[in-house]
Amino acid sequence: MASFVIQKHRATSLHYDFRLEIDGVLASWAVPKGPSLNSADKRLAMMVEDHPMEWASFEGVIGPGYGEGPVIVWDRGTYENLREDETMKDGLREGRLRFALLGHKLRGGWSLRRFGRGGDNAWLLVKLKDGFADTNRDIVVERPESVDTGRTIEDLTTGGAHRATPSDDRSA
Ligand code: MN
Repeated sequence: MASFVIQKHRATSLHYDFRLEIDGVLASWAVPKGPSLNSADKRLAMMVEDHPMEWASFEGVIGPGYGEGPVIVWDRGTYENLREDETMKDGLREGRLRFALLGHKLRGGWSLRRFGRGGDNAWLLVKLKDGFADTNRDIVVERPESVDTGRTIEDLTTGGAHRATPSDDRSA
Protein backbone atom coordinates (compact mmCIF):
# COMPACT_ATOMS: atom_id res chain seq x y z
CA MET A 1 0.00 0.00 0.00
CA ALA A 2 1.06 3.56 -0.65
CA SER A 3 1.80 5.94 2.19
CA PHE A 4 0.54 9.34 3.17
CA VAL A 5 1.83 11.95 5.60
CA ILE A 6 0.49 15.22 6.92
CA GLN A 7 3.07 17.67 8.23
CA LYS A 8 1.94 20.60 10.32
CA HIS A 9 4.16 23.51 9.31
CA ARG A 10 4.34 27.01 10.66
CA ALA A 11 6.09 29.03 7.97
CA THR A 12 4.87 32.51 7.01
CA SER A 13 1.49 31.15 8.02
CA LEU A 14 0.36 27.92 9.66
CA HIS A 15 -0.76 25.14 7.33
CA TYR A 16 -0.90 21.37 7.02
CA ASP A 17 1.09 19.80 4.18
CA PHE A 18 -0.99 16.89 2.96
CA ARG A 19 1.12 14.41 0.98
CA LEU A 20 0.17 11.26 -0.90
CA GLU A 21 2.71 8.82 -2.30
CA ILE A 22 1.93 8.56 -6.02
CA ASP A 23 4.41 6.81 -8.32
CA GLY A 24 7.36 7.20 -5.99
CA VAL A 25 6.99 10.85 -5.04
CA LEU A 26 4.87 12.77 -2.55
CA ALA A 27 2.15 14.70 -4.36
CA SER A 28 1.53 17.64 -2.02
CA TRP A 29 -1.13 20.16 -1.03
CA ALA A 30 -0.96 22.93 1.56
CA VAL A 31 -4.18 22.99 3.60
CA PRO A 32 -4.39 26.23 5.62
CA LYS A 33 -7.11 25.08 8.03
CA GLY A 34 -6.11 21.43 8.11
CA PRO A 35 -8.45 18.47 7.62
CA SER A 36 -11.99 18.38 9.02
CA LEU A 37 -13.87 15.22 9.99
CA ASN A 38 -17.13 16.97 9.10
CA SER A 39 -18.15 15.95 5.60
CA ALA A 40 -19.94 19.29 5.17
CA ASP A 41 -16.62 21.16 5.42
CA LYS A 42 -14.64 21.89 2.27
CA ARG A 43 -11.05 22.68 3.11
CA LEU A 44 -8.97 24.61 0.62
CA ALA A 45 -5.91 22.62 -0.46
CA MET A 46 -3.38 24.42 -2.63
CA MET A 47 -1.34 22.04 -4.73
CA VAL A 48 2.38 22.62 -4.27
CA GLU A 49 5.47 20.97 -5.72
CA ASP A 50 6.05 17.22 -5.31
CA HIS A 51 8.37 16.25 -2.49
CA PRO A 52 10.78 13.29 -2.37
CA MET A 53 9.71 10.29 -0.28
CA GLU A 54 12.46 10.97 2.27
CA TRP A 55 10.72 14.20 3.26
CA ALA A 56 7.87 12.21 4.84
CA SER A 57 9.86 11.60 8.01
CA PHE A 58 11.12 15.18 8.44
CA GLU A 59 10.35 16.82 11.74
CA GLY A 60 12.32 19.81 12.93
CA VAL A 61 12.88 23.46 12.18
CA ILE A 62 13.52 24.61 8.61
CA GLY A 63 16.19 27.29 8.64
CA PRO A 64 16.16 30.74 7.04
CA GLY A 65 14.79 30.79 3.50
CA TYR A 66 11.78 29.21 1.84
CA GLY A 67 9.45 27.51 4.33
CA GLU A 68 11.38 28.68 7.38
CA GLY A 69 9.77 27.44 10.56
CA PRO A 70 8.88 24.33 12.57
CA VAL A 71 7.45 21.13 11.07
CA ILE A 72 5.94 18.13 12.87
CA VAL A 73 4.63 14.85 11.50
CA TRP A 74 0.98 15.42 12.40
CA ASP A 75 -0.28 12.14 10.93
CA ARG A 76 0.98 9.32 8.79
CA GLY A 77 -0.10 5.94 7.52
CA THR A 78 -1.19 4.22 4.36
CA TYR A 79 -3.99 4.87 1.91
CA GLU A 80 -5.99 3.02 -0.68
CA ASN A 81 -7.33 4.40 -3.96
CA LEU A 82 -11.15 4.22 -3.84
CA ARG A 83 -11.59 4.80 -7.57
CA GLU A 84 -11.70 1.49 -9.32
CA ASP A 85 -11.81 3.10 -12.75
CA GLU A 86 -8.79 5.34 -12.35
CA THR A 87 -5.22 5.18 -11.06
CA MET A 88 -4.08 7.85 -8.61
CA LYS A 89 -1.93 9.31 -11.36
CA ASP A 90 -4.96 9.61 -13.64
CA GLY A 91 -6.93 11.15 -10.79
CA LEU A 92 -4.19 13.66 -10.20
CA ARG A 93 -4.32 14.75 -13.84
CA GLU A 94 -8.10 14.81 -13.90
CA GLY A 95 -8.30 16.72 -10.64
CA ARG A 96 -10.37 14.17 -8.76
CA LEU A 97 -9.04 11.79 -6.15
CA ARG A 98 -10.95 9.57 -3.77
CA PHE A 99 -9.08 7.48 -1.25
CA ALA A 100 -9.27 5.84 2.17
CA LEU A 101 -6.73 6.81 4.82
CA LEU A 102 -5.43 4.47 7.48
CA GLY A 103 -3.57 6.83 9.79
CA HIS A 104 -3.27 7.42 13.52
CA LYS A 105 -5.71 10.35 13.48
CA LEU A 106 -7.42 10.22 10.11
CA ARG A 107 -9.37 7.21 8.88
CA GLY A 108 -11.89 6.41 6.23
CA GLY A 109 -12.75 8.00 2.92
CA TRP A 110 -11.64 11.43 1.69
CA SER A 111 -11.79 13.29 -1.59
CA LEU A 112 -9.54 15.87 -3.17
CA ARG A 113 -11.03 17.72 -6.13
CA ARG A 114 -9.64 20.50 -8.22
CA PHE A 115 -12.03 23.37 -8.76
CA GLY A 116 -12.08 26.31 -11.08
CA ARG A 117 -10.37 26.22 -14.41
CA GLY A 118 -7.88 23.57 -15.50
CA GLY A 119 -4.37 24.30 -14.43
CA ASP A 120 -5.56 25.97 -11.26
CA ASN A 121 -3.75 24.75 -8.16
CA ALA A 122 -6.79 25.13 -5.93
CA TRP A 123 -8.34 21.88 -4.72
CA LEU A 124 -10.81 21.01 -1.97
CA LEU A 125 -10.20 18.37 0.68
CA VAL A 126 -13.44 16.83 1.96
CA LYS A 127 -14.23 13.95 4.33
CA LEU A 128 -16.54 11.40 2.76
CA LYS A 129 -19.60 10.32 4.72
CA ASP A 130 -18.75 7.12 6.51
CA GLY A 131 -18.30 5.79 10.01
CA PHE A 132 -15.22 7.96 10.54
CA ALA A 133 -16.94 11.25 9.68
CA ASP A 134 -17.77 13.33 12.76
CA THR A 135 -19.57 16.66 13.02
CA ASN A 136 -18.58 17.35 16.63
CA ARG A 137 -14.87 16.72 16.97
CA ASP A 138 -12.29 19.24 15.78
CA ILE A 139 -9.38 16.92 15.14
CA VAL A 140 -6.76 19.64 14.64
CA VAL A 141 -7.61 21.15 18.04
CA GLU A 142 -8.07 17.83 19.80
CA ARG A 143 -4.85 16.26 18.51
CA PRO A 144 -2.17 18.94 17.91
CA GLU A 145 0.80 16.65 18.54
CA SER A 146 3.26 14.77 16.36
CA VAL A 147 2.39 11.10 15.89
CA ASP A 148 6.12 10.34 15.80
CA THR A 149 7.35 12.18 18.91
CA GLY A 150 4.35 13.66 20.73
CA ARG A 151 5.82 17.14 20.31
CA THR A 152 3.79 20.15 19.24
CA ILE A 153 4.81 22.97 16.93
CA GLU A 154 5.18 25.12 20.04
CA ASP A 155 7.53 22.57 21.62
CA LEU A 156 9.80 22.86 18.60
CA THR A 157 10.03 26.64 18.78
CA THR A 158 10.48 26.90 22.54
CA GLY A 159 12.25 23.65 23.32
CA GLY A 160 15.83 24.23 22.28
CA ALA A 161 15.60 24.37 18.51
CA HIS A 162 18.33 26.33 16.81
CA ARG A 163 16.44 29.58 17.19
CA ALA A 164 16.69 29.45 20.95
CA THR A 165 19.20 31.88 22.39
CA PRO A 166 20.12 32.71 26.00
CA SER A 167 17.85 35.74 25.83
CA ASP A 168 14.93 33.41 25.10
CA ASP A 169 15.48 31.47 28.30
CA ARG A 170 12.70 32.33 30.69
CA SER A 171 13.59 29.70 33.25
CA ALA A 172 15.99 32.01 35.09
MN1 MN B 1 4.67 23.64 4.12
